Amino acid sequence: MKESNIIQAGKIASDVKKFAREFIKKDMLLLEIAEKIESKIVELGGKPAFPVSLSIDDVAAHYTPSYDDEILAKGLLKIDLGVHVKGCLADTAFSMDLENSEENKKLITASEQALKNAIKILNKNISASKIGKIIHETIESHGFFPIINLSGHSMEEYDLHAGITIPNIEDTKNIILEKGLYAIEPFATTGNGKVYEGKPSGIYLLTNNKNIRSPIAREILKIIEEEYITLPFCSRWLVKKLGTKALFGLRQLEENGNLHHFPQLIEISHNKVSQAENTILIKDNEVIVTTE
Ligand code: MN
Ligand code: MN
Repeated sequence: MKESNIIQAGKIASDVKKFAREFIKKDMLLLEIAEKIESKIVELGGKPAFPVSLSIDDVAAHYTPSYDDEILAKGLLKIDLGVHVKGCLADTAFSMDLENSEENKKLITASEQALKNAIKILNKNISASKIGKIIHETIESHGFFPIINLSGHSMEEYDLHAGITIPNIEDTKNIILEKGLYAIEPFATTGNGKVYEGKPSGIYLLTNNKNIRSPIAREILKIIEEEYITLPFCSRWLVKKLGTKALFGLRQLEENGNLHHFPQLIEISHNKVSQAENTILIKDNEVIVTTE
């Protein structure tokens, strides 16, 4: 990964985050929000590293609008966006309170403060568990729980979840973060602090490029291999290119075992969830927050 590309992806993600914060209002179509964010990424010279997630209230992650989505922005909205420049990644998220709720605001402060505290203690050779510990402690000090089965992650070229996880609670694994690119993403909730796998999200990842006979499925496979490579994509993007017959092709690819279809991730007690996320580049003598 070229450092200049990592920095550029981070800068674009940061600019798009500011842009999104300004224009997102209650009762806007999630579909419109997603398209504006993804277009802005392209306008600024990047590509979406994954479909924008716009998850409301107890949906913690992985809600991206479908091509005909009619849901309006409301409640506690998590905006999670990714940018890549030649496969070099930036992954960042923030939360907005769209109903003027004190509790939402407190939840947002808790995850943001947890992220800040985690970044403060970063240096080369820190253990992932120590980051989890400070995230847990910070969120608890605000009176909430972290989501313990969601976590941050290492990133490599065209690889969003590259193997190392950064927990949101202390763990017993002794994983040391060496030089590299990482996302740290605390989630705070008024609920039990776990998510379960809900309905399919329309977000997919290519897991196997084995042959398939159906012409529409082959056409989709070709687009994935050329444009999305090994990064997540969604049905909305393919409907835009090929029309609604893309949905049929996607189902065939899924049944043939070519794709992983991500589920929505829902808080187990259906309580609200906030999220904050930044991408961090750990170098020999320096830690750079690329998406701030
Ligand atoms: Mn993210
Ligand atoms: Mn992430």
